[in-house]
Amino acid sequence: MPSLQTEHRGIVLILSSPSGAGKTTLTRMLLQDRSLDLTLSISVTTRPRRSSEVDGIHYRFIAQRQFEAMRDNNELLEWAEVHGNFYGTPREPVEQILSQGRDALFDIDYQGTQQVREKMSNDAVTVFILPPSMKELRARLERRAEDSREVIERRLENARKEIIRWTQYDYVLVNDDIQATFDDLLAILRAERQKRPRRAKNIEAFVQGLLGER
Ligand code: 5GP
Repeated sequence: MPSLQTEHRGIVLILSSPSGAGKTTLTRMLLQDRSLDLTLSISVTTRPRRSSEVDGIHYRFIAQRQFEAMRDNNELLEWAEVHGNFYGTPREPVEQILSQGRDALFDIDYQGTQQVREKMSNDAVTVFILPPSMKELRARLERRAEDSREVIERRLENARKEIIRWTQYDYVLVNDDIQATFDDLLAILRAERQKRPRRAKNIEAFVQGLLGER
């Protein structure tokens, strides 16, 4: 009997949002569900490490000179300046993940998203997470208590500039309930993995088997 293989061509799942909209929590939930087999792309950044962060896990924290060298050597798939610091996605690990037919998860901003869409339009699936209100966004940033008042104000101002970029994304979710938003993300991932162009080889083999049956 012919059987349909479940593999698909690797996806780059991009999550973007203003800081405080819940993207970090959603990223953690996606990664904790091992059955999803998502691999986080670890960005390089020139931003100082927060006390809760671990070098090599949340980011690779590097000096500005090192960042510029990577950028100039074309080692970054995309890069951007965000809140006065530089961030970028190392190219090589992403290529490895995709070549294994696995999916990569990117937590990057709208500038980086645009670059990835241009370079990998067939593989990128982009999701924008909105906060339910600006009041709630401020409350979340203050609860996090990791940034100074000045940084929080800068992030809120930047949030407005980021929110108007929603039209660049394939999917836009309002995160007023983390579990419901997570469920929506799962539905998006499942559907995207089933898309015909991502599974064409398997389906073709399956159809050949079907047609060969008497
Ligand atoms: P944070 O400093 O709060 O960790 O991140 C600030 C912003 O930078 C977030 O919107 C995050 O998605 C974005 N960011 C993190 N890594 C990258 C990256 O490699 N490239 C781009 N373009 N943005 C990134």
